[in-house]
This record gives sequence, structure tokens and C-alpha cells, in this order.
Amino acid sequence: MAATVIDGRALAKEVYTELGSRVDDLVSCGIIPRIALIEIGDNELDRRRVALKQNAASSLGMESVLYNLRADIGQDRLISLIRELNADSSVHGIVVQTPMPEHLDEKTVLDEIDPEKDIDGLHFCNAGKLLNGNPAIVACTPRAILRILDSIGVDVQAKHTVVVGKSILVGRPIAVCLLNRNATVSVCHTKTANLPEITRNADILVVAAGCPGLIKADMVKENAVVIDVGQTSVDGHLKGDVEFDTVSEKASYITKAVGGVGPMTVAMLMANLADCAEASRK
Ligand code: NAD
Repeated sequence: MAATVIDGRALAKEVYTELGSRVDDLVSCGIIPRIALIEIGDNELDRRRVALKQNAASSLGMESVLYNLRADIGQDRLISLIRELNADSSVHGIVVQTPMPEHLDEKTVLDEIDPEKDIDGLHFCNAGKLLNGNPAIVACTPRAILRILDSIGVDVQAKHTVVVGKSILVGRPIAVCLLNRNATVSVCHTKTANLPEITRNADILVVAAGCPGLIKADMVKENAVVIDVGQTSVDGHLKGDVEFDTVSEKASYITKAVGGVGPMTVAMLMANLADCAEASRK
């Protein structure tokens, strides 16, 4: 039987409805949640992602400020902008679009963001707190995936969950989030031997490899829940890591590359912004 396609846009709407009343409360206390977005260079995918974030913020009555920096910006200049934003009490969340140009040390730059304004959840303090089982700000895509799993009522406890990808942005934090919920987690990556053998054992399969069509039907267990995080631009179209047409015949639930995890990731960025704005009044 064909899988149920999880509608990330509909779920995101639910999140926005919840956030609407929280933003109203903040505004009534004189706090307008504000996000500072730093885009480096001129990249079509980044531009689209930044626009989605700005639209989401404005639809909620939040504010956004965009810093569009040249691709050859020096690391010191970038860090001094981040420090200015850290010190600006009207800014509640700071996002630097990744990947950054190669001459910038991404980790060093991200660790300059005030952990209390790190709404991408990538600062080592936030990553460490998650690892300790005491999360503060959780990275948006993992938070989105958890909410998606909750929406279909899947209890991850005692389930075998396989995560393909070990990036700081998605693979590692979602693996830890699932472990914190007592799932049994396997993490695969480019050096993993026998990937199909491992993915075939997954009750829940989360794929964040950036490798279009990597996961085929014969790599998926019957009735598995398949979350496709991948989004690679191929000939102007976004392609997922999962071969949707064949895998959807086998899975119980599945997300599509477009309209799946993406809209929920933006919604969770807004949720993190609201959390930080609320924390700023304490
Ligand atoms: P990344 O390049 O930093 O990491 C990819 C990971 O996948 C690496 O750990 C690598 O070892 C692994 N990998 C790559 N090819 C593989 C293969 N053939 N077999 C096994 N493992 C393999 O990427 P990322 O930042 O984690 O993003 C992954 C994908 O998710 C990208 O397509 C990205 O655009 C997408 N993404 C989507 C959203 C969203 O909101 N939908 C958010 C973040 C990232």
C-alpha cells in the first residue's frame, strides 16, 4: 500500500498558529522578536532560503534584518558584525547562512554567536547541552523532524532509527535527539560499509546526505517511516535523497523533498526565535 505523505506545509501552519499568540504576548510587553540574517555572497539557493525566513518572520509580526555581505568578506569583519549583533538587545536571533565561502572557518564564526541568540542551535554550547540530554536551543531541522514524528504518533522508543548523514547541521543533532528519546540509533555516512544492509533494518529512516536518489526501495524495510531531508538543486529543481516514487510504495509514512521537512525547518527557526525573545525578558 502506498505511504501516507506527511504534509510539512500543513504542519508548519499549525506551528505558526501556536506562535501567533506567543508573538502577540511578546509584542504586548514591548518586545518584537527580531532575527538578523547574514548572507555571504550571491547564491540562488541561499537567497531563496533567506526569503523564506524573512517571509515567515513578517507573517508572524516578527522583524528581520538582512546583512548581505560580499563573498570575499574577511573573517574578522564578519566576527565584528556578529559581536555587534550579540550586543544589540533588539536582536533575539542571529543566523549566518551555511555553507560559508571556503576562506571562512565556519565553526569559529558560528561559535562567535551568543549562544542565547543561536537560533540555528549550532553553537558548541547548544550542541553540548543537547549531547548532555539537557537541550537549550535545538537545531531547527532536527526539531522539525521530531515534530513530524510526533505528528504521526510514532513512538521512537525501542525503534531502530537509522540516520544517513553525520553533519553538525542535521545528522548528528537528530541522532542525539532520537537517542535522548530512547531510540536505538545507527548513524551512517560516506565511509559506512553496506549502507543498504543497515537502512533495510530501519523502522525509522532519516536521510540527510545531499545525494539525490540515494535511497531506493530495496534499501527500505516494509512499512518504515522515511524522512527525506535532502534538497539538492538539479537542473533548477530540488531533488531529495530518497527515490520517492518507488520508496513510497513500501514505506508507511514519507516526506517529499519539497513541502516536507523544509517548511517545518523554517517554522522551527521561528519557534527558536520566539523562545529566545521570551527568554530575553526574564
Ligand atoms: P553535509 O554535506 O554537511 O553532510 C552530508 C552527510 O551525508 C555527510 O555526513 C556525508 O558523510 C553523508 N553522505 C553523503 N553522501 C552519502 C552517501 N552516498 N552515503 C552515505 N552517506 C552520505 O549536508 P547537510 O548540511 O547535513 O545537508 C544534507 C542534505 O539536507 C542537503 O541536501 C541539504 O540541502 C539538506 N537540508 C535540508 C534542510 C531542509 O530544511 N529540508 C535543512 C538542512 C539541510
